Amino acid sequence: MNPDWHPLDAELDHWRAAGLSLPLWWRDDDAVAPTRQLDHLSDLAENLNLPVHLAVIPRDATGALAEYAEGRPSLIPVVHGWAHTNHALNGQKKAEFRLNRTLDEMVVDAQVGMARLGALFGDNVRPMFVPPWNRIAPELIEQLPNLGYRILSTATPRKTRLVASGLEQVNTHLDPIDWRGTRGLISPETLIAQTVELLRNRRQGRTDNTEPFGVLTHHLVHDQDIWVFTEVLLRKLLRGPGTAWIAPKNK
Ligand SMILES: [Zn+2]
Repeated sequence: MNPDWHPLDAELDHWRAAGLSLPLWWRDDDAVAPTRQLDHLSDLAENLNLPVHLAVIPRDATGALAEYAEGRPSLIPVVHGWAHTNHALNGQKKAEFRLNRTLDEMVVDAQVGMARLGALFGDNVRPMFVPPWNRIAPELIEQLPNLGYRILSTATPRKTRLVASGLEQVNTHLDPIDWRGTRGLISPETLIAQTVELLRNRRQGRTDNTEPFGVLTHHLVHDQDIWVFTEVLLRKLLRGPGTAWIAPKNK
């Protein structure tokens, strides 16, 4: 794999010339336990000096993961739903938090998710809700601030900063995995073109450049190409105009 990065380099030159900066963040989903792949993720975050927000599945998270994260400040735990269970009907897109069950049941799950991660990770857990498959019912969004959440994270550029009173939307924008096809890396040229388009839309004011630009990974399923592409991309963004964004702690 040796893709042509020139289109991205050229776009980043425009940013530097204009003196713009890009708030950049990293989310990695589905952690439950320490693994060899988590070692890789954690080492990479440290080397890049870019903390990674670890979307942890509360029901299955282990005490060993909590111990592991304690000595690694580059891992930032956030709440990935409750059990990562699909409640959608056959033929519907997968979802844990759409209205395939009662709102009350979902509220309880979002609440115990935060409580369980709080018990495991202490005040290091950030008040961010990451619904599995990036799907969530609007009715539940309204309830999240009451449960102590301050940030909702799904996918695609946000339309508004606050999706409910006291709840900021901070999404992910680039996912390098070809989920519907090979489950390997999407063609790097396609990913580079996507990144350039996302950045250009921000630079030219069509989307909100105050929203941290999110790169989404899934450490448990990465092959070598996915690791390498992610590292090169993040390095390029961080070299300028990117500045690391970390979700604030609950006050
Ligand atoms: Zn997930």
